[in-house]
Amino acid sequence: MLTRSAAYRWGIMAVASTLAVLVPACGQAPVSGSPVAAVLPVSGVPSTTTTTSVAPPPPPSTTSSASSSKPPVTQAKPVPAGRVVVLDPGHNGGNGSHPAEINRQVPAGRGKTKACNTTGTTTNAGYSEHAFTWDVSVRVRDLLSARGVRVVLTRPNDSGVGPCVNERAAIGNRENATAVVSIHADGSTSAGAHGFHVAYSSPALNAAQGEPSLRLARVVRDGMRAAGFVTSNYIGSDGLSPRNDLAGLNLSERPSVLVECGNMRDATEAATLSSADGRQRYAKAITDGILAYLG
Ligand code: ZN
Repeated sequence: MLTRSAAYRWGIMAVASTLAVLVPACGQAPVSGSPVAAVLPVSGVPSTTTTTSVAPPPPPSTTSSASSSKPPVTQAKPVPAGRVVVLDPGHNGGNGSHPAEINRQVPAGRGKTKACNTTGTTTNAGYSEHAFTWDVSVRVRDLLSARGVRVVLTRPNDSGVGPCVNERAAIGNRENATAVVSIHADGSTSAGAHGFHVAYSSPALNAAQGEPSLRLARVVRDGMRAAGFVTSNYIGSDGLSPRNDLAGLNLSERPSVLVECGNMRDATEAATLSSADGRQRYAKAITDGILAYLG
């Protein structure tokens, strides 16, 4: 959740890029599993003779016939090389038991300070925002990794404390991220409040917070909308929310947005946020938006 009050803290902590490697993979089918790979040269084999002996080609006439009758393979558009995405799962599972650490004041940009981090919200049934953001971030990571994108998470698990909001921003800056996406869910108790929105820094404090961040916000919004998620009826406009009070966005020197996937206090959205199928839908939608940004 992120309210303008002290309730919201976009946390932080430096996590090495290698941390993503420590997280268990989530079963994404590798692209190399495609049938096409079986007839391509094996790049890792040093000798072409060996390759040929392992998979001898059919006679020329058969080869021609086979290739022309092969069913079309739907290949996703390749992601340009060198893209780096920093995913920031909001909050952390250990925050609640470490108030002194997460309440300490840290730089929040625009000359302000904020608490290092917060505990986040929960559904009425007790499903936590930090568990949601972690789960969705891992799913997005796996989807992007399967497309060859290097992904860095701002925290290595859902049992730690922090990182503080300023450190989360610093991770994106240090990684020279192509895009930084922070993932949250809101906790509004206003009657009927529901829907997602994407926040971006405004007024922009640097070039990356200008057009690139707004473009990133729009494509993530479009990805969410295309997946059937409705835009917020209580924050922002048309699914977008310009903000000047979010430390992670203020301190970012890279294109950066924060997605509030839904309202955990809304019964209908809570059901989706709490289900694995629902979280996969959120992850796919966010991934589609990011991929559109990466080009
Ligand atoms: Zn949050």
